[in-house]
Amino acid sequence: MTAISESSAQGIGLLGGTFDPIHHGHLRLGWEAKSRLGLAQVLLMPCHVPPHRDTPQSHAGHRLAMAKLACRDVPGFTVDDWEILRDTPSFTVDTLQHLRSLHGAVMPLVFIMGMDAFNTFSHWNQWQEILQLSHLWIAHRPGSKVPDKDAVEANIIEQHAVETPAELLQSPAGKLFIYETTVLDISATKLRQDIAQGHDPRFLLPDTVWSYIQQHSLYRSHLEQTL
Ligand code: ATP
Repeated sequence: MTAISESSAQGIGLLGGTFDPIHHGHLRLGWEAKSRLGLAQVLLMPCHVPPHRDTPQSHAGHRLAMAKLACRDVPGFTVDDWEILRDTPSFTVDTLQHLRSLHGAVMPLVFIMGMDAFNTFSHWNQWQEILQLSHLWIAHRPGSKVPDKDAVEANIIEQHAVETPAELLQSPAGKLFIYETTVLDISATKLRQDIAQGHDPRFLLPDTVWSYIQQHSLYRSHLEQTL
């Protein structure tokens, strides 16, 4: 792909996930990528049908609504409903092709993910194509290890890693940066379990999201969720 000058580079970040529910681990991950890279915007894109994991517990409409509440006053964060409006599995490669068609061939695109997600990257649909369409910003996450030295992912790091975030903005795609993001040991799985057991998850996720969860009785297994 064509190289671009740093002055014309802005870059768009993409943070995909089930966001079931969205929490401060997701928001901080996106925020640190945005501020370290000076990205124009970060798109938070809840998936509809995740290809690599179990069906989300909450209805897509709830996950989208919670993401919108979480991002409402965050400058540069935009919730994108493109995956959620489609009925097909949410393959990252399709989403990135869509973003390329919108933003052109030279805009740096940065796919943001935690190390736990990257550890399975070589099983993702057309992962080589993903690297041709975007850079990867990989954040360490509590409980996830760097890939084993014999893993395909270790080889991907060797081939594509750069030393500084700024290097990601010098080309549209194809590089990878591993970032020591602020450690926030928060997971949606644990949040769902806590809420089901009646524990208050305050300060692990935005208050607006917690209010929404209560209002719609989400994650309380004995209660019917309201749409
Ligand atoms: P679950 O517990 O249901 O698997 P999750 O909390 O891991 O959910 P996802 O929606 O699956 O959330 O994650 C979306 C992206 O955010 C993934 O790339 C994941 O690695 C990353 N991520 C989630 N939580 C954190 C966290 N606490 N710190 C850093 N990255 C995170």
